[in-house]
Amino acid sequence: MNPASASATVSGHPLGLPDLELAVLFFVFACAAVHICQRLVEQAAVVIGTEARRASFARTALCVGSIVWALDAAGLFMYPELDLGEARLAPAILALIVMVVSGRWTIPALTNTRSPLRVVLAGAGLAIGMLAGNALLFSAFGDIALVMSWQAGVGALLLATVLAVVLALRHRSARLRKDPNAYSPFSWQEKVLGGLTVVPLHVCLANMFALAPIAPAHAGGFKLLLALVLFGIVGTAYQVQSLRIDAREDRSMNLALMLQNSANARLGAGGGQRLALIAERLPALLSPARMKLHFQPIFKAGDLDAPVRLEALLRVHDPELQHVDPELFFLACERLGRTTAADRIVIREALELSAPWRAAALECSGISVNITPNTPFDDDFVEWLARQLHETACPAGWLKLELTEHAMIRNADRLAHVMRELAALGVGVLMDDFGAGYSSLSMLGDLPIEGIKCDRTFVTGLEHDRRRQTLLRHICAMARELDLKITIEGIETGSDFKIVRRLGTHDVQGYYLARPMAADAVVRWLAARQAERYLDTSPHPTMRAP
Ligand code: C2E
Ligand code: MG
Ligand code: MG
Repeated sequence: MNPASASATVSGHPLGLPDLELAVLFFVFACAAVHICQRLVEQAAVVIGTEARRASFARTALCVGSIVWALDAAGLFMYPELDLGEARLAPAILALIVMVVSGRWTIPALTNTRSPLRVVLAGAGLAIGMLAGNALLFSAFGDIALVMSWQAGVGALLLATVLAVVLALRHRSARLRKDPNAYSPFSWQEKVLGGLTVVPLHVCLANMFALAPIAPAHAGGFKLLLALVLFGIVGTAYQVQSLRIDAREDRSMNLALMLQNSANARLGAGGGQRLALIAERLPALLSPARMKLHFQPIFKAGDLDAPVRLEALLRVHDPELQHVDPELFFLACERLGRTTAADRIVIREALELSAPWRAAALECSGISVNITPNTPFDDDFVEWLARQLHETACPAGWLKLELTEHAMIRNADRLAHVMRELAALGVGVLMDDFGAGYSSLSMLGDLPIEGIKCDRTFVTGLEHDRRRQTLLRHICAMARELDLKITIEGIETGSDFKIVRRLGTHDVQGYYLARPMAADAVVRWLAARQAERYLDTSPHPTMRAP
């Protein structure tokens, strides 16, 4: 830079508009930065567990701060009249620290906060932090004159705040969408729009201060290279970290992963975000006030008029999250180590709700309650359950527990021991979702289970699927020979029902026969069914639940 132009910038003349070709390159860089920052924030938002979340946000802030820093530094090379000299290390590093710290303070609020006002405040906080970092970064490349263009300053502040707030609100609305299937991550158009906003933002930033070079003119490529290398390192670190997490999850094919897979299949791209939201709200959700039970009748296949057993199914409703999918709820519990607590609430609730049905001599032969695989391994579970049965005066045979089968593959000896203890209490255990992917036939011989419940996937399309019919017939025959009770669930049509009855199942369950209903509706339904049969001698009165 010649002395004349140096004195021009120091005396407060704006840098003006950037070189067009470099501005286009900068725009591409900005789009990539928006894309990576958004991915980082999205990834941080799905992390579950206080400690893991804190660590993830710290990593995210480090990456986002570094990327913004690198983008800012690269942007300085857009101005031909700004002949950059050697950078001073201290202000450059300080700038990076300020950007990382402001990201650490504001990104969790931008990502998690429900209140739009707080999102705006956090966005403004992030913008101020980034502006302060930018001023420091500028001072690394030249002497800042204490002459400031307030128009450029206000423009930069407004654009930075709008960018942070719009991105955060967009993320928030996608996360809190009532229908998790509708979750849509940022589109490339939105990212390009973000990149487009960054260009005028940087022009405002560059024109906030007058800058005098601190060293003789140099070709500036060295620092541009440095900035880009840093950007590359951060991007790569992010990728490596993600891959490492994926690999770790692949290795531990545990309940969480299995459920998460099925839950994700059900919920699409929003599954992870939805799960994280549920985990955030879990302390509030884990209470009898939020955890309501519905009951679905299980019929004797050979006699639909015989007393029914009722399976308790959890329904969680939250004012903010609306209906919470029970499988996702239990997955969130599992990730936070709260499955046992949830199962105990459900068991206690089911025993209490069903006690009056016995007293009223309604035609109900007992209840089935689902439990997660960890619960039987709890040291005091059997003792605790014995207490609950005693307190609710529950007779032997009334309660059955449905356990998802894949848990049985591990810890079979211990599980067999617990099952014998449960049998001594009069509580039978059924293997639920049999055949849903983790079937271990040897377990049928090893464990003292009372029966199996065939997964509803067996019934899907049964009418036209001869192979499935054959499979089901053989499963039924095998169960009968092993003296196990077999239930087929997921019966949705009359023809499904006819077929499974012919195949030799003991019990049947499904929407065709009766849908799950609230506890108070159960009493009415049982009474109406009894009355209907008393008046009407036809063999199969309408059994659909309200
Ligand atoms: P599950 O134990 O196999 O429960 C049966 C599921 O199939 C229920 O879904 C029920 O509403 C649904 N269903 C019943 N008949 C039909 C049908 O004809 N067609 C179709 N498509 N579905 C039918 P829900 O209530 O969404 O529960 C899903 C799973 O969540 C349960 O599968 C169970 O594994 C778990 N779950 C639900 N409540 C509890 C609970 O209180 N404790 C535990 N540990 N798990 C629970
Ligand atoms: Mg079940
Ligand atoms: Mg099942």
